[in-house]
Amino acid sequence: MKSSLPYRTGERLPLEGGHALRLSVNPRARRISIRIDTRAGEAVAVAPSERRLGDAVAFARSRTDWIMERLSARPDGTVLEPGAVLPFRGASVRLEAVPGAASARLIEGADGPRIVSGGEGQAFARRVTNLLRRTARAALEARTSIHLRALGQGPVTVTINDPASRWGSCTPRSRSIRYSWRVIMAPPAVLDYLAAHEVAHLVHADHSPSYWSVVRRLVGDPTPFRAWLREHGAALHAIGRRTGEP
Ligand SMILES: [Zn+2]
Repeated sequence: MKSSLPYRTGERLPLEGGHALRLSVNPRARRISIRIDTRAGEAVAVAPSERRLGDAVAFARSRTDWIMERLSARPDGTVLEPGAVLPFRGASVRLEAVPGAASARLIEGADGPRIVSGGEGQAFARRVTNLLRRTARAALEARTSIHLRALGQGPVTVTINDPASRWGSCTPRSRSIRYSWRVIMAPPAVLDYLAAHEVAHLVHADHSPSYWSVVRRLVGDPTPFRAWLREHGAALHAIGRRTGEP
């Protein structure tokens, strides 16, 4: 018999260690799932309807170990300040301050790339983020058009944004694809996979076996890229979320 507890969207249930499980209804969700909201530091049980929240809670309860592991591994996030080292295209880049208000730029030095920028505090962080966003846009637009061409697809509108935990989404009806700029911190092959993942949704809006065969045509076996994002995703999503200022 199914539980008939009247769970409601937005409700928070206590988990061990002072953490919380937030209940969320997403009518576009196809099934119940759990995700970790790195920004809020809580687990989220997602169900397609309020009626199914009980199932989502039961599922979350059965995955407590996984949830606790993810929540305790939650990185604090590097502050975007001079001296910080960020992952960048699968390697790393050091942030350096220059006097004045110059915008950030990428310098390829003999000892690896550096990002130098003017501005102080939040202004420095904003300039660095803007540069990473621009770099991400250029790389993602390039890979997107390559995959579009491979599938004989026309152009799409590409938007670069910064969702709390997602990497991208595709709306086939409006031919629009959104990407998180943070993927520029991942290895180039992972960025390429993300572009292929979203472009393939123009052919199949779901994650069916036929969808994955389109992805495989574009980038080969996606398993290592998906594993990379599962392992490092939360860390990349945490970078720069915390400011250096109290
Ligand atoms: Zn997808």
